Amino acid sequence: MAYQALYRRYRPTTFDEIAGQEHICKTLKNQIETNQISHAYLFTGTRGIGKTSAARIFARAVNCISPVKGNPCKKCSACTEVNPVDIIELDGASNNGVEQAREIRDRVQYLPAGGKYKVYIIDEAHMLTGAAFNALLKTLEEPPKHVVFILCTTEPQKIPATILSRCMRFDFNLVPTEKIAQIINGIFSELNIKATSEAVNAIAAAGEGSVRDALSIADRCAAFGEKLDYETVTGILGATDKKTVLDFAENILTNNTGKILTSINELTAQGKSVGLLAKDLSQAFRDMLILNSCQNANELLMLPIDLFERLSKISKNAEIKKLLLALEIYTELDSKLHYSLSPRLLFEAATLRLATSSGETDMEALEMRIARLEKRGVTPITNAKPIETPPQVKAVAERDYDKARPIWAEVLQTVRGMNYPVLTTILTQLDSVWVEDKLMTVQCNNMQFTGLNDKDNKKILNDILVKWGLRFNPVKTENETAEDKKKQLSKVAGNIEVI
Ligand SMILES: [Zn+2]
Repeated sequence: MAYQALYRRYRPTTFDEIAGQEHICKTLKNQIETNQISHAYLFTGTRGIGKTSAARIFARAVNCISPVKGNPCKKCSACTEVNPVDIIELDGASNNGVEQAREIRDRVQYLPAGGKYKVYIIDEAHMLTGAAFNALLKTLEEPPKHVVFILCTTEPQKIPATILSRCMRFDFNLVPTEKIAQIINGIFSELNIKATSEAVNAIAAAGEGSVRDALSIADRCAAFGEKLDYETVTGILGATDKKTVLDFAENILTNNTGKILTSINELTAQGKSVGLLAKDLSQAFRDMLILNSCQNANELLMLPIDLFERLSKISKNAEIKKLLLALEIYTELDSKLHYSLSPRLLFEAATLRLATSSGETDMEALEMRIARLEKRGVTPITNAKPIETPPQVKAVAERDYDKARPIWAEVLQTVRGMNYPVLTTILTQLDSVWVEDKLMTVQCNNMQFTGLNDKDNKKILNDILVKWGLRFNPVKTENETAEDKKKQLSKVAGNIEVI
C-alpha cells in the first residue's frame, strides 16, 4: 500500500474530531440539527487548521440521512459514498477562470443526484479572478434552494466585498500547542511510536498553530524510528540545539564578549543563520522570564529536566530588566535582519550592546540606583549644589595640573606609537587633564567617556600609567548636568559609579 501522509490518514471525519475550532463547530452542528443551512459560507484562517476538513464534514452532514448531534452518521449512503457526486471540490488556484465559474453557474441549476444539497467547496477562493467572482456573484445573488457554497481562504481580504457580504463568515483560530500535542500523542500510540512528552511538545510547538504542519513534522520524525526523544526531534527540525543557545545566552548575561564572538563565528561556520539564532535566543530569554515569574514554570515550558535545570541556573542570577531588554532586542532584530545587507554585523552589534548593558534604561531604574547609593552614604546632587565628592576622596582631593602635563604628553606619545588610531584621536581631543591623589583624571564629554570607559582602553592606559603609580580616571564634563532631569540623574549615577 502506498504511504499516506499522517495528516491525510488522520483527517477528522466528524466535527467533534476537529481540534481547536469548537466555537465554529458548535454553530455548524446547530445549523444541521435545526436545518438552517445558509447558501454561502466563508471559512478563513491560516493553512492547516481545519477549514477544508470542516467544509467536507459539513458537506456530508447536510446530506446525511440521520445526523448524530449535528455530525455525519458515517453509516448512511451519503456518508459512506467514496466519491460523492453532490460534493464538488474546486481549487481556486487552478479553476480560477471565468469559464469554470460560468460552468458552475450553469450546472448549479441541476438538482443533486442523491441528497438534498449540491455542495461546492472552493479551496484557495482568493485565487479566483475578477471575472470568475462576477460569474459566481450572479449565482450567489439568486442561489437555487439546493446549492451550498463553501469558500475557504487564507486571505479573506482578497475576496470582493460583494461576495463577502453574501457569505456567512467563520474565522478559524490557530490551534493551541497542547491540543496539537494531544493529537500527535494519539497518533503515535496508534503507530506504536514511543516518544517522550518533551519530544511531542517540540513537534507540536514547531507547527506554530497549524495541525497540518505539525503532522508533517511528526511524519518526518516517525520515519526516523520508533523511539523519539527531545534531542532527536530538535535534530530533525534543524533547530540550533538548546544547550548551545543557553551557553550563548549565559555569555550574554555575564558579558563574556570574547566567547560571544567566538560562538557567532562557530555557529555561522556551521551554516546557522543569525536570523534563526535571534529567534532561538528570544525564545530562551522568554523561557527565563517565565521561569523567574511563574511557580509552575516547568509545566509551561515542558523541557527535558537537564535543560530545565540549566535554564534555572542561568536565570537565577539574571535581572528581570536585562531579560526583558534581551527579549525586546532579539524580537525586534528578527524583523530587522530581513532587510539588512549585513545581518551578521547587525546581530553582533546588537548582541554586544546587550551584553554590556545592565538593562537599566529608564528613570525608575536610575532613581532606584541612586536610592541604593544613598543608602551606602553617597549623596546625590541637586540642581542648586555642585557635585559633592565622597568624603574620603574630598580630604585629599587637589587637582595638580602641572604634574599632569609632562606625564600626559608621554602617555599620548606611547599610545600613538602603539597604533590605536581611535584611542589616540579621543585622547588628543580632551580639554582638561589633572592628577588628583593617585588618579590621572581626564574630563570628557559623553561620547569620549564611553570610549575611554571601555575595558580594553582603560587597561592600555593603566598599563602605561603604572610607572608613575597612577590610575586612569575619566569623568564626564560638569556643565552638561543642568539639562533635563533624566540626563542629570544618569550623570549623577554615572559619576558616583566612577568613584
Ligand atoms: Zn449519514
